[in-house]
Amino acid sequence: MKILRCCDAGFDCDHVIRAASEEDILWEVVDHVQDVHHIEVTVEMAEQVEGLIQEEWTNDEP
Ligand SMILES: [Zn+2]
Repeated sequence: MKILRCCDAGFDCDHVIRAASEEDILWEVVDHVQDVHHIEVTVEMAEQVEGLIQEEWTNDEP
């Protein structure tokens, strides 16, 4: 899973986005930032966010 914390993107927000791929995370970020923070996500912002996405390892993987 990929994971992105909204606070890592500079927002005072504890929302955490998880998705299977970076592309899915980006779509969720765009939705979340526009709905909750009322900010239009620019191409530059999307590129920055891409750099903040982390790999999440879980213990229950085979
Ligand atoms: Zn947020």
